Amino acid sequence: MKAHLLPLFGILALVALLRPLPAAALDEATTRLARDIFQQLIEINTTDSVGSTTVAAEAMAKRLLDAGFAREDVTVLGPNDRKGNLVVRFHGSGARRPILIIGHLDVVEARREDWTTDPFKFVEKDGYFYGRGTQDMKVNDAVLITTLIRFRRENYRPDRDLIVALTADEEGGKSNGVDWLLKNHRDLIAAEFVLNADSGGVTTVKGKPVNLDVEASEKLYADFEVRATNPGGHSSLPVPDNAIYHIAAALGRLERSPFPFELNPVTHTYFERRAALEMGQTAADMKAILRTPADAASIKRLSADARYNSLTHTTCIATMMTAGHAPNALPQLAQANVNCRILPGHTAEEVRLELVRIFADPKIGVRYVDDARNVYNVTPEKKAFPTILPPDEILKPLARIADEMWKGVPVIPSMETGASDSVYTMAAGLPSYGVNGVAVDQDDIRAHGKDERVRVTSYYDGVEFYYRYIKALTSPQ
Ligand SMILES: [Zn+2]
Repeated sequence: MKAHLLPLFGILALVALLRPLPAAALDEATTRLARDIFQQLIEINTTDSVGSTTVAAEAMAKRLLDAGFAREDVTVLGPNDRKGNLVVRFHGSGARRPILIIGHLDVVEARREDWTTDPFKFVEKDGYFYGRGTQDMKVNDAVLITTLIRFRRENYRPDRDLIVALTADEEGGKSNGVDWLLKNHRDLIAAEFVLNADSGGVTTVKGKPVNLDVEASEKLYADFEVRATNPGGHSSLPVPDNAIYHIAAALGRLERSPFPFELNPVTHTYFERRAALEMGQTAADMKAILRTPADAASIKRLSADARYNSLTHTTCIATMMTAGHAPNALPQLAQANVNCRILPGHTAEEVRLELVRIFADPKIGVRYVDDARNVYNVTPEKKAFPTILPPDEILKPLARIADEMWKGVPVIPSMETGASDSVYTMAAGLPSYGVNGVAVDQDDIRAHGKDERVRVTSYYDGVEFYYRYIKALTSPQ
């Protein structure tokens, strides 16, 4: 094994010395258009606190209208004047049912004092574009609008309608645009399947592409309130029964009780393909967990890495805690929030009952908390959708274009361990796949963080990627 790996190491070392180069050169007009759109989007504040997705949606609508889109095909609509969503339809021949492509316009809050540059100024520096949304995900909103305008400029005629929806409140807030559109304007976004440009993407190491992810599955998000109450009393006369101790002991048991290891068709394929890119112990462990039965020592070693742990387990973790009402009183109440990310195929209620079993304390109540912070004794029907591998229709052109653009880079189906708007489209019965072609270095993930940035070349590659991929999906077969 080692002898074979050595020359490969040599090649990787050489490649690592090269500066990252764009995979495909765009013409000048497209480059300028792509850059202008990106800049415009970054400089419109779309945070939940003070921003407006409507302003961004209208700016993009204007660009589409100026490029020749018909009025009736470009709509900005939403539940209130600050949470507008853009829906645009690019007409095809109608030979096949439409494709819906979604992206969110809102961004996470960013404070000027935390950043080196102004988060709402588009800054190009040292080969990167900086600004809030350069990774998550105005970068791909800009890619999508650029792609539509390119298609329009060249009078491209797809064999099916393309619907692009750029929406509000993916990052939180009360007006999730995808949810709202599905509930109020389902006809406007009816499609055969959904591409979500918020997930997937190219993983690079120091600018060198390693793999292209396609998100094919998603964990289920659930919060639980863990609560102990007590009559309390004077702290000079303590009794053994203490609400804080109950919660502390329960959380200790949770820490020592991981949920079982489990693979599904998507994560199975993920580790199979990922193993081929890894070396040494990690590669061996990835192969060993695919066997039946999976190797326990390998599971243990891989699970020490938070990413691999979250891909192979339902996780529940304490995220908030409040207790007591005075420094000199016994606590009458102690409670914690336990946040769970549930593997597909399991329900939130199943996990709630498992928490009750792990805590093994009749004094502790475990209740489900929804996004609006309503509390339920029994979890309302909430289930992670079973995973299916993306069909060839999705994967084959993806593999071909990945190979054209980033020679030999494998496409790896993955499971999102966080949550995206695909949770709504999947719940509505629309198969949803996370696809985009923007590369981010494995160790440079700055989404939601400070000094968010994307490589200039990665952005333009992402522009070219979507153009080619949508063409492949919409060209007469
Ligand atoms: Zn996002």
